[in-house]
Amino acid sequence: MRGTGVRERVVLSAAAVLAGLVLAPAAGQAQRRGQPTIPPPSIVEYKPRSTLVVPAHPVPRAKFPVVDFHGHPPNLSSAENIQRVIGAMDSLNIQVMVQANPSSGERLTQQIAAVRAAGHADRFVFFASLDLRNIEAGSGARIAAQLEEDVRAGAVGIGEIMKSFGLSIRKADGSRLALDDPELDIVWQTAARLDIPVFVHTADPAEFFQPLDYNNERWLEMAMFENRRFFDRSRFPSFDDLMAERDRMIARHPDTKWVVAHLSWYGNDLGRLGQLFDRHPNVYGELGAILYDLGRQPRFAREFFIRYQDRILFGKDSFAPAEYPYYWRVFETADEYFDYYRDYHAFWKLYGMDLPDDVLRKVYYGNALRIIPRMPLAGFPESGSL
Ligand SMILES: [Zn+2]
Repeated sequence: MRGTGVRERVVLSAAAVLAGLVLAPAAGQAQRRGQPTIPPPSIVEYKPRSTLVVPAHPVPRAKFPVVDFHGHPPNLSSAENIQRVIGAMDSLNIQVMVQANPSSGERLTQQIAAVRAAGHADRFVFFASLDLRNIEAGSGARIAAQLEEDVRAGAVGIGEIMKSFGLSIRKADGSRLALDDPELDIVWQTAARLDIPVFVHTADPAEFFQPLDYNNERWLEMAMFENRRFFDRSRFPSFDDLMAERDRMIARHPDTKWVVAHLSWYGNDLGRLGQLFDRHPNVYGELGAILYDLGRQPRFAREFFIRYQDRILFGKDSFAPAEYPYYWRVFETADEYFDYYRDYHAFWKLYGMDLPDDVLRKVYYGNALRIIPRMPLAGFPESGSL
C-alpha cells in the first residue's frame, strides 16, 4: 500500500508542476480519492485504542477443571519445573496436562519418574513421540515396537506428531514421507489395539500456503517468520493435498482414535471440520492456538460447539500461563470486542461464545477423560454429572 501511495504522490507532484500548481490542490485531489493527506502508519505502527465501553468479565480461572490436551511444558524431569507448572495449573484450574513434547524411551521414563517422585502423578499424563525420520521397509515395525515399550512405561497416547510430518520429513530414499505412507499402517494399527489416541498436527493455517501479498490475512506473521511460508509448490505440498493425504490415512484406520491438532486449521471454516467429523466418527479436534478464529464468529462457533460437543477437546499449545484466561473468557462469557494476546495471529478483536455448562464440561475435561486411557480421575466431578 505504501508503494502505491509513493507512486501516486510522484505522479501528483509531476502533474502539479506541469499545471503550474502548488501542493494544496494536489492534496485536495488526494483527499477526494479517500487517501490520507499525511503519510499513513505502517501495519505495525497503527494501534488504535478502543473507545468502546461495555461490561467486561475477565475469567482468570476456568469454571470447571480442565484437561490441557496440548501441553508443551518445560522438561518435567526437574522438580523445579514440575513445581512451577503445577503452580500455574492450580491458579488456572487445569487439573491434568497432557505432556505432548517429543518424548520416547529414556526421555519419557525420566519425566514420568520425576512427576511420580514429586507426588504429582495425578496431574500429568504423557504421550509418546514417534521417530519418523528415514523411513524404509521395516521402519513401521520398529516404530510400533518402541511405541509398545513407551506405553508399557506409562504413555497413554501418541503425539504431538508435528507438522513436519507431511511438510518436510524425508524417507531414507530422499522422497517426502507422505502422511498415508503404508509403511506406517502398523503403527496406527498398534495405536488402535492399545486403545490410545493419535494426536497429529497437519499443515498450518491455509493462508501460509498462499502467496504473501497484501490480501493475505496472515501477512504480518508470514513477514515475521520465514519458516511459516509454504507457498513454494516446488518445496511444499498444497494445504488441500496435505489434508487429502491425512484424510486417506484416517480412512484406512477407522478403529484408531485420531485427534487433529488446532481443529485441523479449519477454525475459519467450521463447516469443513463438521464434514470431517461426520465422515469419520473416530476423529476428534483439539483447539489450541486458533482462539482468534472462534472469537471472531461467536454465534456460529457456539452452534458448532453445541452440535459437536462430544468431539472437541481443549488444548493450549505453547505454555504461557497468562494466555489461558483469554480462552476461558471466549468460552464462558458473552463479552464483546476484547483484545487477543498475539497481534500477528489476528488484527481483530474477540467476542465471547457463552457456551452452556454441559458443553463446557465436555470440552474442558469430559471428552479427554473418555478418549485417553488410564486418566487420573482425582479432582474431576463425578462422571455421572457429565
Ligand atoms: Zn504443539
